[in-house]
Amino acid sequence: MSYLDYNATAPIRPEALTAVFEAMQTVGNASSMHQPGRQAAHRVDVARRQLADLLGCSPGEIIFTSGATEANNLALRAAFTAGNPLVTSPVEHPAVLETARAVTAENPEDLVLLPVGADGLVNLDALEQVFSARRGGVVSLMAANNETGVLTDLRVAAKAAREAGALVHTDATQIIGRLPVDVAELDVDLLSLSAHKFGGPQGAGALYVRRGSPLPHRPLLVGGGQERGWRAGTLNVAGIIGMGAAAAAAHHGLNEEAERIAALRDRLEDLVAHALPGSRINGRRDQRLPGVTSITFPGLPADAVLAAMPDVAASEGSACASGAPTPSHVLLAMGLSRDDADSTIRFSLGYATTSAEIEHAARAIKRAALQVRAALAEAHG
Ligand code: PLP
Repeated sequence: MSYLDYNATAPIRPEALTAVFEAMQTVGNASSMHQPGRQAAHRVDVARRQLADLLGCSPGEIIFTSGATEANNLALRAAFTAGNPLVTSPVEHPAVLETARAVTAENPEDLVLLPVGADGLVNLDALEQVFSARRGGVVSLMAANNETGVLTDLRVAAKAAREAGALVHTDATQIIGRLPVDVAELDVDLLSLSAHKFGGPQGAGALYVRRGSPLPHRPLLVGGGQERGWRAGTLNVAGIIGMGAAAAAAHHGLNEEAERIAALRDRLEDLVAHALPGSRINGRRDQRLPGVTSITFPGLPADAVLAAMPDVAASEGSACASGAPTPSHVLLAMGLSRDDADSTIRFSLGYATTSAEIEHAARAIKRAALQVRAALAEAHG
C-alpha cells in the first residue's frame, strides 16, 4: 500500500501515539487543583510550549481547539464585524469559505473574494483595490492550499492589510509541520491549525492569537472559562499532549525533511509524466508545499482511476467530506473545466513516505490509467 493522502490526514507519529497512550492512562482534569489535575495541567503546558516553539510564538498566544475547522470558525466569527470587509479567496477550505458566507449572510457585500490565477495563486495586488474603497475588517487567506499545495505570500497580504487597518487570519492547516513557519515573520494576527495533518491525533487543533491584537472577545463556546475564556470545556488533555509531541517531532529536522519529501514528490511527477504523457500538474510548481501534487489525467475519471488502484490511497480533486463528490471548487476557480476537475487526483506525501512507496504508486497509477482508458475505449466501441 502506498499511503499518499497526508493532506487528508497523516499517520500518527510514534512519539504522538506514545504520548496519547500515556495521557489516556493517567487521570486528571487540567482545571483541577489536586495533584493529578496539576500534573495534567503541567503536561498541557509542555505541549503548549512545544506547539509555540513550532510557530515561533509564546505559549500564551495559543488557544486549544478541536481542530482547524473550529479554529477558523472562532477566528472569523471574532474578527468579522458587520459593515467591514471580510476578504478571502475562492480557493479556501470550506471551513473558511462557509464560515465567511455564514457571518456575512446578512451583509453579503461585506464578503470579498480575491481573484485566483490559473496557477492557483491568489492575486494579492487586488487587495490594494479592495482597500482603496474600504478600510478595516479582516483578511483571511490560506498559507497553503490543501488540493494543489500552492503557497500564499502572506507577508505581502499582511502588509496590505495592516496599512488598511485590517486584521489578518491564515488557515495554516496544511503548512504546519511541513515547512518552517514563524508567525512574527508572517505578521499575522490569527493562525489556525489541526494536529492530525502533522502526525498528531485527530480532534485536536489550535488558534494562535497574536498578543495585543485588537480582537473582540467573542468565544464560540462559553461555560467554564477555559483557555482564558476563549474556549470553554474540559481540555482534551490526551489530544493536546499528542499534538505537542507531534509538533516537537515535526520541528526536528524540518528543512531536511521538506527537501526529502519534495524530491520524492518530484520523482513521482517525473514517473507519471513519463508513463502518461498528456497528464498535467495543477498549480504553480515553484511555489508549492513539498509533499503535494495535483495531477489531471484528461479523459480519465478520477474515481475510476482510484478504484482501479486500491493499493494507492490518494484523493479525488473533488474529495468531499460528505462522501458525495462535487467538482473541486479550487480547480474550477483556477479555470479547469468540470471534466478536467473530475479527472484530477491529489497525491500528498509526508514524513513516513518512502521511495519504495513512490515507485510502487507510479507503477499502479500507470496500470490503473491504462486500464480505465482501455475500458472507456471498449465502452465507446
Ligand atoms: N483547513 C484546511 C486547509 C484543511 O486542509 C482542513 C482539512 O482538510 C481543514 C481546514 C479542516 O481541518 P479539521 O477537519 O481537522 O478541522
